[in-house]
Amino acid sequence: MRIGFIGLGTMGEPMAARLLDAGHAVTVHNRTRAREEPLAARGAGRAATPREAARAAEVLCTMVSDTPDVEAVLFGEDGAAAGLEPGAVVLEMSTIGPEAVRSMHARLAEQHVSLLDAPVSGGSEGAQQGTLSIMVGGEEAALERVRPLLEVLGKTVTYVGPSGAGQVAKAMNQVIVAGTYAAVAEGLALGLAAGIDVEAAHRAVSGGAAGSWGLTNRGPNMLRNTYPLGFRVRLHRKDLGIALDTAAALGVPLPVAAYVAQLETGLIKRGFGDEDVSAIARVVREQAGLES
Ligand code: NAP
Repeated sequence: MRIGFIGLGTMGEPMAARLLDAGHAVTVHNRTRAREEPLAARGAGRAATPREAARAAEVLCTMVSDTPDVEAVLFGEDGAAAGLEPGAVVLEMSTIGPEAVRSMHARLAEQHVSLLDAPVSGGSEGAQQGTLSIMVGGEEAALERVRPLLEVLGKTVTYVGPSGAGQVAKAMNQVIVAGTYAAVAEGLALGLAAGIDVEAAHRAVSGGAAGSWGLTNRGPNMLRNTYPLGFRVRLHRKDLGIALDTAAALGVPLPVAAYVAQLETGLIKRGFGDEDVSAIARVVREQAGLES
């Protein structure tokens, strides 16, 4: 397939690389153009603007940070919408608000372009290994056209409903991640404070009912008190904002998510916003008197 790919950050770069390696014709664009170079060296085309990346693309993938950034790359000056041909499919894979995505879907439908919200879970490891979980909202027929491409990126591709539903599923995911990471950090702080062999204890509890992706993949970093990327604290804070806004509109209280959002606001204020979201453990450790 002819694919345009916009946004080559932690997630976008390995995802575009996988599509290239699977034999697709991929044209990439990144705001900081130098980030296109490693992919160009592996055979990707380069586009000077989002509009150029969209030209002749059967599928356009966007993987940028937040709602205003997706607005900018799709509808801003030299935005992709101006380059898309009728019949193209936009795979919007960033995590943004469900309402915003519905409005983008409606705008693109006017030019006979189908937008699928297809946010992902599984971290940078999942992007590299093609093991992401992808939750898709929009027209099911459009999903069937792009499913082979999504299967290069993810091990589960799940249709969850009309436009915006994928982003609601992702908000659920981020609420669950918030609670899990906070609980993992608290459990490990307890073991550290008690002075037991926490690495052995970590191995033991990982195999039982407390086992989770966060415990297995981020627990060791929490024990070392180092938080390499990963997934930035500031991006998870953005996602909890989406979840809390969505919940407020529905009248649903999310006290654990609200608590973790406050921890993350403090981390960002203190300059830790670009660490991995497992840095929640910094605060938990400090509160336990484990770190200054
Ligand atoms: P990232 O490493 O911070 O990369 C962000 C990318 O977006 C960069 O390519 C950046 O370009 C581009 N960008 C940001 N604002 C832009 C704008 N206004 N115009 C054009 N380009 C813009 O972020 P990431 O970790 O790859 O995350 C991307 C999306 O995936 C986010 O929505 C995030 O919530 C979601 N996500 C991330 C993970 C994870 O584990 N990292 C997991 C699941 C979902 P520059 O290079 O020029 O800055």
